[in-house]
Amino acid sequence: MASWFEGEKRCAVCGLPSPQSELVSAGAWGASDLDGRTPEVVRSGFRWSVERCPHCGYCAPGIDEASRRAGLVVAAPAYQQLLAAASLPEPARRFLCSAMIAEKVDSWASKLVVDLCLQAAWACDDAGSAEAAADCRLQAAAALEALHKFGGQHHPRDRRADYVLLADLYRRAGRFEEAEGAALQAVPDKGFTLAGQLAKLELRLTLERDDRRHAQDEVVAGDEGGQAARDAARAEAFAVLESSPHGVRHGNLLRRVLAADPTLEREAVAAALWALLEEHPADIYSPARGLLRMTRFRDSTWRPQVPVPWEKDRAPVNAIPDKYRGTTVYAKVLVRLVEAAQDPEETVRFPELAEIMGITPKGQHMAKEVGHVLNEICEGEVNRGRPMLSALVVGSGGWPGAGFFECARTLGLLAPDDADERAFWEIELVAVREEWRG
Ligand SMILES: [Zn+2]
Repeated sequence: MASWFEGEKRCAVCGLPSPQSELVSAGAWGASDLDGRTPEVVRSGFRWSVERCPHCGYCAPGIDEASRRAGLVVAAPAYQQLLAAASLPEPARRFLCSAMIAEKVDSWASKLVVDLCLQAAWACDDAGSAEAAADCRLQAAAALEALHKFGGQHHPRDRRADYVLLADLYRRAGRFEEAEGAALQAVPDKGFTLAGQLAKLELRLTLERDDRRHAQDEVVAGDEGGQAARDAARAEAFAVLESSPHGVRHGNLLRRVLAADPTLEREAVAAALWALLEEHPADIYSPARGLLRMTRFRDSTWRPQVPVPWEKDRAPVNAIPDKYRGTTVYAKVLVRLVEAAQDPEETVRFPELAEIMGITPKGQHMAKEVGHVLNEICEGEVNRGRPMLSALVVGSGGWPGAGFFECARTLGLLAPDDADERAFWEIELVAVREEWRG
């Protein structure tokens, strides 16, 4: 189910209030389009991801925030003309106006501009405005090319995924020559990666002069190179599900399978998991959106848990005694954790923190002191409504120690009888990285 925030927001450009609704959370199940457009329910909810002030026309992901320069862009005739352009469906105008602000205030060579132009194209698709959709795609493609030119990347790790997107943008705009060039950049010599398979699909569609929408799961069928990898991923997924009577969330399952067999490619695993429900309807079912569970556990007494939204108004916790708070040692450890949080892969080990603190990096004394400063930091973070930074601190096995979960229980984040500590840690780690993303 999708959930919505509806309420009044005050525009940061003109200062006037207006009602706005925002898609707070929604699940998506199934395969995305080749340009990354998600399946329902997020698919139709995307149009609310940019808000529009009805008074001054300011369009932004959140109109209650604006830089002074954004106000200048909004007041410019070019912006107001775009906002009123009759050739474009309304949501598309909103996205393109927001893109214009992002371009002028920041840079047109940005991921945000690519995304906003792409979303404008989807809005045109939905409205049946083929010509306008092609225009928006070419704008997105130009922004993506510029992003590459300035050393940036749209997909954080996988350059090939960028070329697949670029190929799709050109192909669906009917610019087959450019599409072919982009797809060829991503076609691999060997090996199975989803991006590589998608590039092959893009290339084939381009050569067939097909400018229609296609979905990523089309590469799952009929590909022999990836079959072995998907078989291995499926076997691991079954092992994880067998050991989880409560069921496993899709994202968790993906991470666990990858953790169990690091030689598997993330994309191959994702492809296998998409197909799991369809291929094994007798063994696996989905008791709640995004949740997979073995059918044989169906009769046990477990019920799906409703995720509790973050309680912003909780009372501050004061359970960790002061020892390092206010000292330079505390600040140095905090700085190191924030630095690690900004890297999508980095974790921190106890001995490193011990060295930062100036204590011998081994033994029980170290564990106690490092643990204490981490607990103090986490208490402060949680009281400020942020996740536990110590989720980044792992032992030699790649997992946090018992102290992490003890602290989470002390701070009231983890229920005393919640046995699924691993899931708690995984979610907390994602939250930390999202909170501190550079
Ligand atoms: Zn306004």
